[in-house]
Amino acid sequence: EPRVFSGVQPTGNLHLGNYLGAISRFVPLQDEMPSIYCVVDLHAVTVWQEPAELTRATREVTAAYLAAGIDPKKAIIFNQSQVKEHAELAWIFNCIARMGWLNRMTQFKEKAGKNRENASVGLFAYPNLMAADILAYRATHVPVGDDQKQHLELTRDIAQKFNNDFVERIRELGLGIPNPEPTPESPDELYFPITEPMIAGPATRIMSLRDGTKKMSKSDPSDLSRINLTDDAEAISRKVRKAKTDPEALPSEVMGLEGRPEADNLVGIYAALSGRTKAEVLAEYGGQQFSVFKPALSDLAVERLAPIADNMRRLIADPGHIDAVLRDGAERAAAIAAPVLHDVRRIMGFLEAR
Ligand code: ATP
Ligand code: MG
Repeated sequence: EPRVFSGVQPTGNLHLGNYLGAISRFVPLQDEMPSIYCVVDLHAVTVWQEPAELTRATREVTAAYLAAGIDPKKAIIFNQSQVKEHAELAWIFNCIARMGWLNRMTQFKEKAGKNRENASVGLFAYPNLMAADILAYRATHVPVGDDQKQHLELTRDIAQKFNNDFVERIRELGLGIPNPEPTPESPDELYFPITEPMIAGPATRIMSLRDGTKKMSKSDPSDLSRINLTDDAEAISRKVRKAKTDPEALPSEVMGLEGRPEADNLVGIYAALSGRTKAEVLAEYGGQQFSVFKPALSDLAVERLAPIADNMRRLIADPGHIDAVLRDGAERAAAIAAPVLHDVRRIMGFLEAR
């Protein structure tokens, strides 16, 4: 049956890209399907994290989920390291995925930089852990930003290889689910579903405010490159004012944004924040200078983000409550993931766990 899974790393400043590309899209889904939203701290430590800062950021991402409107009575909100099945299934997927598949991952290349020899093994194996996050719940739908597309394809490849490698065992043990799209390469019964990426809307890739060719990112050293969810009105308007642009007025049609990455990005942000299309935004602002558009954009951003920031501050002031939400979520998550790992052990031929 359908189930949503997604996660955000506790790696620093949550920003507008995380909100528009991911968190804001989680909210309506919780009413459509069983939904599981994770704070993925095991992913965060693939690069160095100061321990106290990791704790703080874990609570902050949880607060953002709650402040954005995810209801822990409807969806499961939990912290990855508190459910041991993620690490366990990730190891198994380390043995399913091929070096060649991971060698193609562009995020590793970007994050490892020039000194690849010095990157952690975890950073290289990151996509296998992500596949484990999703498949430990046999999740079918994964709402993420565009930068995760390649990792989701790898998740599908891992699911497919597992299903194929163990096709006989899955059938013998009666653990298969009918394959909705049987093909010559994939059996008519599967254990793991072939996950559907949900990458849609005008905000799948919000770009840096300083460089329209780089995605907005928590790990960008320049704070001017992003609008943080906790920025106040003054910070938001300063960053929008300083955002890189070109000297031209806005075009009146979407085609006119081609070759103008910074203008395209700001129009896309406006569209996503106002729930309109870029075409609709340009119908209103086409022909206007950035001196007119930027103040309108920062007012809109403040209007949308201020209530979330207020809520986050209130929630963060009570870490006991946040920790209780996460503990309850971890129990409910483990209740789904543990039987899946039990199946996986039987399928692979491991002896019964203690
Ligand atoms: P880091 O730089 O540490 O990787 P990040 O900003 O990429 O941080 P993640 O925690 O890796 O944040 O990603 C959380 C979710 O936010 C993912 O679904 C990701 O696709 C989405 N996301 C991240 N950046 C953007 C962006 N610029 N535009 C749209 N979605 C984004
Ligand atoms: Mg990222």
